Amino acid sequence: MSGDSLLDRALVRLEEAAGHLQIDQDVIEKLKYPRETTKTRLLIRMDDGSRKSFQAWRCRYDDTRGPTKGGIRFHPHSTMEEVETLAFWMTFKCAVMNLPYGGGKGAVQVDPHSLSKSELERLSRAYVQAFASTIGPDRDIPAPDVYTNAMIMGWMADEYSQITGQVSPAVITGKPISLGGSLGRNDATARGGFYLVRNLASELGLDRDHTVAIQGFGNAGQYYARLAASDRNTVIAVSDSAGAIYRPGGLDVEALIAGKSSGRRLIDMAADQGAHAIDAEELLSVEADLLVPAALEDMITADNAARIKAKVILELANGPVTPGADKILNDHGVVVLPDILANAGGVTVSYFEWVQNRQGFYWDLEEIHSRLLKIVEREGRAVWSIAKERGVSVRSAAYIHALDRLATAIEAHGTQS
Ligand code: GLU
Repeated sequence: MSGDSLLDRALVRLEEAAGHLQIDQDVIEKLKYPRETTKTRLLIRMDDGSRKSFQAWRCRYDDTRGPTKGGIRFHPHSTMEEVETLAFWMTFKCAVMNLPYGGGKGAVQVDPHSLSKSELERLSRAYVQAFASTIGPDRDIPAPDVYTNAMIMGWMADEYSQITGQVSPAVITGKPISLGGSLGRNDATARGGFYLVRNLASELGLDRDHTVAIQGFGNAGQYYARLAASDRNTVIAVSDSAGAIYRPGGLDVEALIAGKSSGRRLIDMAADQGAHAIDAEELLSVEADLLVPAALEDMITADNAARIKAKVILELANGPVTPGADKILNDHGVVVLPDILANAGGVTVSYFEWVQNRQGFYWDLEEIHSRLLKIVEREGRAVWSIAKERGVSVRSAAYIHALDRLATAIEAHGTQS
């Protein structure tokens, strides 16, 4: 575990947590490596008649606590190692929230913005054809992730039904409502983080009207901005892949969301908002009480961590803060609410979707929200208490909490398995 790959760095957190618990070395040996990663190429017909092939993976990292669960990412820079690391994080995320799942993840190495809608549909269907025997409602359950959405999940669910000859909506979550999706899944990642911050606000030293900077304005970032603004917080800076905008007096979040959905970049809306366009990197160091990384891995590193002025970081992205940055932030008294807890609202409502699909009985939005709130508050408080009792970071506490559950399950399976 001494290398410096993304997975090596993720495993540092496992080792650290293990140091706080009396657990068998067998448990660590099991959790150090992915159980299975399948790699294939998807060959699809492009609109111009040519064929193109794309690298694709699905990793089932660990299924001790239940079927593996985790999204599928479409990104030009995805790699097998990234998929395995994300699947490792899903294993711990499901354990933190006490969902009856293990961890998995998938990806296709593609820039989905370069495909037409019908090419995207063929690619999505090809993914399910390739991994039809890996996935399944009791085996491995995909969901959306970076650059995938409900429409793609709908095509995938449909393809799976055609292959198996059965309607099995529970094979995938994050589907359109009309195909068995759940109410409240769209904003669930942001809402889980929002409930967590609200519940711990006084311990975190955040006033009711705190200021917020958000890096990444996709699904998680936009919904977080909306929830925060509707709760009297002031969103002062946001960024997307083209750049960032900043207005100390606060941005008009609804106008930004409307502009984004009509294809505008944030920097093109700076003037309408009376905001300055700033460097994407500068967003990290604005004077906001709360910083919300909601984009990709490795955004806050040992090189920029010292410049962060926020009191609290809420990791809506997976893996945005490196272990090197964690140390610096800790020394500077910045509290990091870690991904495996902070963004777990998404997979929690995915779990609700799967439960509803299996029982064939659907809940109203109020029920979804109240069940999510209950789980976020219960597990958030448990993690916070571990951090206080043991004098460790919230991240270490979340890993300790998850590892305890994983170890109990691994031991319960017996030593001969
Ligand atoms: N992709 C999301 C995550 O990283 C959601 C996974 C799911 O709903 O299964 O947590």
